[in-house]
Amino acid sequence: MPTPGDDAIHHRACNLCEAICGLLVEVKDGSVVSIKGDPDDPLSRGYLCPKAFALQDINEDPDRLRRPVRRTEDGWEEIGWDEALDEAARRLAEVQSAHGRDAVAVYQGNPSVHNAGSMLFSPPFVRTLRTKNRFSATSVDQLPHHVVGWAMFGHQMMIPIPDIDRTDFFLVMGANPLASNGSLMTAPGMGDRLKALSARGGRLVVVDPRRSETARRADTHHFIRPGTDALLLLALLHTVFAEELTDLGRLAPHLDAEVEEVTALVDGFAPTDVAGVVGISAEDIAQLARDFASAESAVCYPRMGLSTQAFGTLCNWLAVLLNLVTGNLDEVGGAMFTTPAFDTLPMGGRGHLGRFASRVSGAQEFGGELPVSVLAEEILTEGTGQIRALVTSAGNPVLSTPNGPRLDGALSGLDFMLAVDIYINESTRHADIILPPTTGLETAHYDLAFHPLAVRNTSRWSSPTLDAGPEARHDWQIFRELRARLLAHAPDPADRGTPTDAMDPHQLIDFGLASGPHGAASDREHPVSLQLLKEHPSGVDLGPLEPRLPGRLFTEDGLIHLVPAVIAADLPRARALLDGPSPDLVLIGRRSLRDNNSWMHNSPRLQSGRERCTALVHPSDAEARGIVHGQQIEVRSRVGAVRIEACVSDEVMPGVVSIPHGFGHGRPGARLRVAARRPGVSANDLTDERLVDAISGNAALNGVPVHVRSLGGAS
Ligand code: SF4
Repeated sequence: MPTPGDDAIHHRACNLCEAICGLLVEVKDGSVVSIKGDPDDPLSRGYLCPKAFALQDINEDPDRLRRPVRRTEDGWEEIGWDEALDEAARRLAEVQSAHGRDAVAVYQGNPSVHNAGSMLFSPPFVRTLRTKNRFSATSVDQLPHHVVGWAMFGHQMMIPIPDIDRTDFFLVMGANPLASNGSLMTAPGMGDRLKALSARGGRLVVVDPRRSETARRADTHHFIRPGTDALLLLALLHTVFAEELTDLGRLAPHLDAEVEEVTALVDGFAPTDVAGVVGISAEDIAQLARDFASAESAVCYPRMGLSTQAFGTLCNWLAVLLNLVTGNLDEVGGAMFTTPAFDTLPMGGRGHLGRFASRVSGAQEFGGELPVSVLAEEILTEGTGQIRALVTSAGNPVLSTPNGPRLDGALSGLDFMLAVDIYINESTRHADIILPPTTGLETAHYDLAFHPLAVRNTSRWSSPTLDAGPEARHDWQIFRELRARLLAHAPDPADRGTPTDAMDPHQLIDFGLASGPHGAASDREHPVSLQLLKEHPSGVDLGPLEPRLPGRLFTEDGLIHLVPAVIAADLPRARALLDGPSPDLVLIGRRSLRDNNSWMHNSPRLQSGRERCTALVHPSDAEARGIVHGQQIEVRSRVGAVRIEACVSDEVMPGVVSIPHGFGHGRPGARLRVAARRPGVSANDLTDERLVDAISGNAALNGVPVHVRSLGGAS
């Protein structure tokens, strides 16, 4: 195995998105000269997407910070690591000493879970702060999945994964896996997987308010009015029960309630009841239910559009129920659970809801975190417990959380802000100190988050590709140093130490693999260990997903909780949709293969090509407002307005405006020069922090009421 920076072809997994593709990175004279897909990776099988080249662009980016910086009246100054870490810890401790533990908040961005060092070492640091004000990107895009996993199966990470490689019927709701390569479903090379589905006679049905890349490939695509997916799912269940298509299979003895309880709940949600509101005919809804239930195997995959809406948790529960009552949960070709080599689930973190609430608006915690939609008000509202300092890690919440401008203003008023980040972005420009860790090519990596969400059980270790040099610090080193310094400032008698105080990521991962289900105690001829993975740099195949229930249940009674009261209580709100008025126009997001939130827009190769930040408007809506293609328009919501180029297209259904998320660069003080050349606008200048999923508090980024008007002239 080559050492970092050697002239050689280095194997590694791409950690830029959930797909974790295996890569072959050729290094010459200490620099990357090519990046290719690794054909021997058992999961990605040679696939890579254009974003993979951003690994090199990010690594070589002249805007990337390589040493800690401190903000001064005259701008940013570079400082040494010890000075930066000392000052950061001292100032956090001072804020907590003066104003209490909760005066320091933490926000962890999406890239945190793509980094084993951060995954393992940031939690002990955060626990050392002992603050209730913990936030993360989870409550922007996926919290409903965790709430359902916790409520039904007893663990927030019990998220069913579509067995896409063996299913006969793939029902995709609110997801665009051809652009994402799967989300909460690690499935690199989605195009080939869909081709294989078609080749074996399977069907792909997509339900989405936009004819997305995936919808264009589907056998059937149904437009659906944003925010009404819960009604569609209720009607599908209604048909399954009414036409006696139910099949609980071998899970029947493992349910905590009779299925008749669900039958009663869907009363009044027949296809004929909901068709007018969801925008799909009653005949089509009923036929979809019949086709799904009668397929040899089928899986309903609910994702972003269903999670980031006002009924996020309800939608995800109903999708699990649809899989369950048609005999497609935990069955081959259905929605299954993984058997990861490093299995964190038995280690704890099952989840809990409502143990405490936010100070200002009483939002419930889940798993010890508050929804990020309340972060700004917790900073801006004076009183005991007010947030006065913030630590961000790999995050840009000004662009990625609802009502970004309000948070932008709030961050500017903090007493202190520390960022662990490689960029001065739209959020970290407010920081007092920025600690820049190494980037993907410079770190060793084991994917703790996404092997457990993958459509096939595989395991892969990545050694560092490039030598970061003696001055660099990895995320894990930064968090460990910060924790040690915090404890030195404020000794905590309750702190009994953690394995991360003494062990490095290699040791922790080796331990996790050895004690995992494919490790030393398994009956495998070659148990998975770090050494084994180093000997197989393309990764090890551990086989297709296997039925895991009931053994994998974490509920106290060992049963699947069919109708969790906390979720079912939201049904009356869904019922009210049937009679309530609907707004003329609502906003939805979208994503392209070349984007991943806000954090790759400084890659010159990814920023090239046609303008991606445009507003899709249906021709009938455009005509009604005198809007022509290419014109500048104003899109306005309760919280703000943006000016953006209109793309008049029937790609969206009438009544829907679509703006991609992750743009809105070029704000004063940010140092992302490539991104600033084509800044786009932030969809989160329009999304509303008051619009959330009622149960989880997850941001409702889809279905935001907006008004649109022409600003005249061609762009
Ligand atoms: S799909 Fe994701 S993991 Fe695969 S190469 Fe692209 S960015 Fe990397």
